[in-house]
Amino acid sequence: MKIKLYDSYSRSLREFEPIKGNEVKIYACGPTVYDYAHIGNLRTYIFEDTLRRTLDFFGYDVTHVINITDVGHLTSDADTGEDKIEQGSKRTGKTAWEIAELYTEAFKQDLVHLNILEPGIWCRATDHISEQITAIRKIEEKGFAYITTDGVYFDTSKLTNYGYLARLDVAGLNAGQRIDIGEKRNATDFALWKFSPKDQVRQMEWESPWGTGFPGWHIECSAMAVKYLGEMFDIHCGGKDHIPVHHSNEIAQAEVCYGTKLANFWLHGYFLETDQSKMSKSAGASLHLQTLLDYGYDPLSYRYLCLTAHYRSDLKFTWESLDGAETALNRLRSAVHAWGEPGIPDDQYLQQICHQVYDDLNTPKALAVIWRLVKSNLAPARKKATLLECDKILGLNLTNWQPTVVEIPGPVKELMDLRAQARKDRNWVEADKFRDQIAELGYEIEDSAEGATLRKK
Ligand code: AMP
Ligand code: ZN
Repeated sequence: MKIKLYDSYSRSLREFEPIKGNEVKIYACGPTVYDYAHIGNLRTYIFEDTLRRTLDFFGYDVTHVINITDVGHLTSDADTGEDKIEQGSKRTGKTAWEIAELYTEAFKQDLVHLNILEPGIWCRATDHISEQITAIRKIEEKGFAYITTDGVYFDTSKLTNYGYLARLDVAGLNAGQRIDIGEKRNATDFALWKFSPKDQVRQMEWESPWGTGFPGWHIECSAMAVKYLGEMFDIHCGGKDHIPVHHSNEIAQAEVCYGTKLANFWLHGYFLETDQSKMSKSAGASLHLQTLLDYGYDPLSYRYLCLTAHYRSDLKFTWESLDGAETALNRLRSAVHAWGEPGIPDDQYLQQICHQVYDDLNTPKALAVIWRLVKSNLAPARKKATLLECDKILGLNLTNWQPTVVEIPGPVKELMDLRAQARKDRNWVEADKFRDQIAELGYEIEDSAEGATLRKK
């Protein structure tokens, strides 16, 4: 069996083969740490963790890098607007450095909650200013940079295939552009270095051959990726929004600096879509993992929900779908728990499941096979061993799960008994009345084939 992955650059499903021996080097664009990550961002990191776990499971020796963008990401992709970190500093009254530290730690905590394996290498943009300056110098020496009053820019018109990844219609963009591009020569040109505003002292700024300022957002990723993984490595990934700007620009820089397209495979996760009006129980806020925890959800239910959709299709988030994922995950956990000691994995099922994940990480189909396995008449010990093997890829932490014994308050217990009796008597009106009373005491009932279970609201 081989692993097949969809490469956005060639727009095709390709058999995966490491560039060198058994080593696989992955770079994943990390968070801009000016606020908590929202659950959409986290979907992308779950997809990348699934990729990494799949490659690990296959037997490759994986090096996984995630960067921390703590400077240079402006509010507009057109390289205008404010630096998001400095903006976060104004919003909270903390320093830019404190902001970056706070949200980096929060992000790492989110990854722990989601059972995302820690990358082998973390790297911060502000720790790699000299590497970025060296790369910009190289671009300048090769004649691809020009200077304006506010920074150093990459001249995209000098690269014949600029924007190939996104199949950008560069000529059309330049001809049809209505936005003001200021001193930029072309609409698609982007900042390599920005000068600090003359009338303002930035909290984060450095000396450079061109003047005091800070690096553009795109140069950090190519400079750090090359430092840790080499000029051409195996897989570069991120969310699909990175295709037309951020990754197109990373490739442009690499083509000029190293004559490569930086990565052999470019993988992109599609979006989690949220219906803000329904989503935001707290006014207007985008949803953070902590909010899910505050509502009593297990973060791994969100991981399960993400696995139910293919990473290359958008996923619409609803509370009902999260409830469904939590129920399914709990059934899986209870089953695994009830099966006792694991035996020997079943090769046929294991192969069927691997066949699905090796086919461009088709986790929804893998889950379908898993449920067939659960319902099969295979010996429990074999089922358990097979599931625990697969969980190395799914990351649902099935091994360590223990049922929590919840202390149910007396009045709730009484109402539960009354409701059970009413249901036995087929008195649905009464049963619903008891359910409402239980809800008023802060508990939600979930009925399944195994009986009624309670959850704190
Ligand atoms: P950022 O912190 O904005 O740089 O984004 C971090 C990661 O989340 C990037 O890989 C983005 O492509 C990804 N991303 C942003 N919004 C979403 C979304 N709604 N669904 C999935 N991924 C997203
Ligand atoms: Zn990046």
